[in-house]
Amino acid sequence: MQLPGRFVQWIMSCVTTVSYSIMINGQPTKPFPAKKGLRQGDPLSPYLFMLVMEYLTRLLKTVKKDPNFNYHPKCGKWIIVQLSFADDLLLFCRGDDISVQLLLQCFQQFSKALGLVANADKRRIQLIKSVLFSIQVYWSQVFVLPKKLIQLIERVYKTFLWTGGVEVSRKALLLWDSLCKPKATGSLNLLAIGEWNKAVICKLLWNLCKKKDRLWVQLIHVYYQKQNALWSIVSKQASLKVQKILKAKQYFEEAGYTEVDIEGISSFSIKIFLAAHRRLMTKDRLKGLGYVEDVTCSLCNSEKETMDHLFFKCTYSSRVWTLMLQWQGIQRQLMMWANELEWAGKYYKGRSITTELYKLVLAGTLYYIWQERNGRIFKGMQRLEGTLSRAIMQDVHGRGESKHMLQRRLRELNYYPSM
Ligand SMILES: [Zn+2]
Repeated sequence: MQLPGRFVQWIMSCVTTVSYSIMINGQPTKPFPAKKGLRQGDPLSPYLFMLVMEYLTRLLKTVKKDPNFNYHPKCGKWIIVQLSFADDLLLFCRGDDISVQLLLQCFQQFSKALGLVANADKRRIQLIKSVLFSIQVYWSQVFVLPKKLIQLIERVYKTFLWTGGVEVSRKALLLWDSLCKPKATGSLNLLAIGEWNKAVICKLLWNLCKKKDRLWVQLIHVYYQKQNALWSIVSKQASLKVQKILKAKQYFEEAGYTEVDIEGISSFSIKIFLAAHRRLMTKDRLKGLGYVEDVTCSLCNSEKETMDHLFFKCTYSSRVWTLMLQWQGIQRQLMMWANELEWAGKYYKGRSITTELYKLVLAGTLYYIWQERNGRIFKGMQRLEGTLSRAIMQDVHGRGESKHMLQRRLRELNYYPSM
């Protein structure tokens, strides 16, 4: 297109200096360079796309002039050969050999200029990815597929990939697993059906925990949950399908996620928090696993984020605790994690009004501190200690309202302590 060399250089430096960083368990990794591509959301990309498509349009104009070329019957009137929607391209012509040939030649010239050469094998893979795979995707979103079925589907794919037919043969030409690995490792990057199935079932469980406004989710909650937290239901009465969805929690747990992360403390249960907290991924743990470098606590920005620090020692958290204790009228010094829990354990035994309230406050405070920490890391949002403690107090009010014994006490607690 005869663009000036300097202009080309500018564009090239934009697309060759890109690096990415990805979030793993809430922490951005060290940036790594991208071989090609734009920064995400780069305003340059629509212009580049238009430049490239302009080139294609010019090529197609030459096809239009060819006397052998015939327009698609519905497009002749408007002399349309191509339509582009975002990154989709539709080409039209009459279905005769010569027209298709001309269009193909033009397209090949375009691919060559772009360095994107389509080959027949690739297209077969594309067909598996886009057609065969989508059929299977539909069903695997709804059902946990039996292993046998997954194996059968994979055999059909493999056979089609190598022979172009659908007759399943016994020859295993290449391990499917290696086909499913990312392209960078030298394979063809097809998705592993079993893994995919696992992922979408996890999504169902996620919805079950989070999307409480959906009818099917409400239904399951009403039928199976009753008093328990969803996470802890072991319902033998549930239908096979629901049981399978509930079992997906094991995948979350294997990945180090806990009920607190997934469900939030919807039941506001301290028992759940205590059971789960040992597995909360604080930065010191993430570093131990090699996921992050920086272990600075995001609440105070000065010390190392350990479990003990985050929830108790941290200047931020301790101010929140102080306010919460003050609010309940508990007169004592703050303690460390272990001591606080020990104190809570002793304190817990009764079922007095004070105990019930303390349970709610403890669970709420732990949960809100964890939320605040995540909000800072993931969303860059932060609340002051006072704001956070007010949110906890309001939440405790909301939850306590349904407990008859707490109603009167909460009416007395209708104030915010001063900092
Ligand atoms: Zn801190």
